[in-house]
Amino acid sequence: MVQVRTRFSPSPTGALHLGGAHTALFNWLFSRHHGGVFILRIEDTDKERSQEKFVVEIQESLQWLGLFWDEGPYRQSARLSIYREFARRLYEAGAAYYCECEPEDLEARRQAALARGEKPRYEGRCRERGLGPAPHRALRFKTPQTGMTVWQDAIKGVIAFDNQELDDLVLLRVDGLPTYNFAVVVDDITMNISHIIRGEDHIPNTPRQILIYEALGSPLPVFAHMPLMLGKDRGKLSKRHGALPVLAYREQGFLPHTINNYLARLGWSHGDQELFTAEELIRYFSLDQVGKSPSVFDQEKLLWMNSHYLKEMPCPDLARILVPYLAQIGIDSIAPDYLTQVVATLRTRVKTLVELATAARFYFVDPRPYEAKAAEKFLTPRAAPLLREVMRALAAAPDLSEATLSRMLQELAAQTGEKLVNLAQPVRVALTGRTASPSLTEVIAVLGKNEVLQRIENALHFIEKN
Ligand code: GLU
Repeated sequence: MVQVRTRFSPSPTGALHLGGAHTALFNWLFSRHHGGVFILRIEDTDKERSQEKFVVEIQESLQWLGLFWDEGPYRQSARLSIYREFARRLYEAGAAYYCECEPEDLEARRQAALARGEKPRYEGRCRERGLGPAPHRALRFKTPQTGMTVWQDAIKGVIAFDNQELDDLVLLRVDGLPTYNFAVVVDDITMNISHIIRGEDHIPNTPRQILIYEALGSPLPVFAHMPLMLGKDRGKLSKRHGALPVLAYREQGFLPHTINNYLARLGWSHGDQELFTAEELIRYFSLDQVGKSPSVFDQEKLLWMNSHYLKEMPCPDLARILVPYLAQIGIDSIAPDYLTQVVATLRTRVKTLVELATAARFYFVDPRPYEAKAAEKFLTPRAAPLLREVMRALAAAPDLSEATLSRMLQELAAQTGEKLVNLAQPVRVALTGRTASPSLTEVIAVLGKNEVLQRIENALHFIEKN
């Protein structure tokens, strides 16, 4: 195979959503699999709709996902002279012509065609007029009026369009800016793109683009049109289905690898394997295994996958990536070793990093005020002597190992004739402020003796005052 060169070419008219990330990922995986080059190109010729903040956000999203590009970002807005040069070539070869039809006139004809129930198309009024370049003239492509345009799509198989269905598309607008279909072909040719992997919504553009390649005498790349991602109700994926911009997933506490693994499995499969390391995705990815039918976005599965990876990740790594989420809730300057112990007690109980940070809060700040219901039920005068017993036993404990602490609690239960839960729950509320937490022995071991004794004493004060 020639050197694989793929590109991701978003228009910066909005944030990068899951659909865009899906396309970027497939291009990235394909190029990594083949030891090729992955290019980022910003398609910003639509000046009105393109915004710099989206250029920044798209790059930040790709970087967060780890989809680093080898070349670029190229920007179409910086390549206008290249498009003009290719336009000149097409014009001089007789494959394009200037058109002076007025926009109002074209719009009126468009509306009339729609009113007649016909597909609007340019009727070719200037096609044979032999007009040369001049202000207020657009350059149009002279689409062949007969024959078919056919390609072997690497995902969809053979696709054919009747050239008669295609009208003479504008290459350069009156303002000298290229249209999408023209700029994309010039870029893909000059950037030596070998494989164009993009959403199937671009299929209607492909015959037009192929005809431009042919008019320029350039060899065709491989086209691969990916099935779209739908919502659960099989409608176009949107916010309604829980689909969000990529960076919103970071904000909500998803791991970038979760998003990559999840998106890779949308439309692509490798047997029935669901979970892949990044290396496995690169090793196994192939366009042959991309299905033809749309895939359905499932928020629950995404959460499941995230909780899986939270459990799998080495605790020191998890601790490190949790730091900004803790900072968000005002918890700063944490000792890494302490945080590593904290996450080890919590990570099997949460689905996102935000949940993990929230659940970890009591390890860093005083649990008061206690959850009202928890305090009402367990921090009662009846619990006070039990809490004192626990303090006494703990103060004397030789160490805080799981074995020592379990034995201690059991002995206390036997001595006082209380059920273990009646003993444990008041301590849990005293230490964590709530009734649900990691196992008590883990919490005690992480908080350490001094802190535990202090918190139980605080709970005793609370009981006295109430
Ligand atoms: N800029 C186009 C888009 O955002 C992508 C074009 C292409 O991949 O050819 O949909």
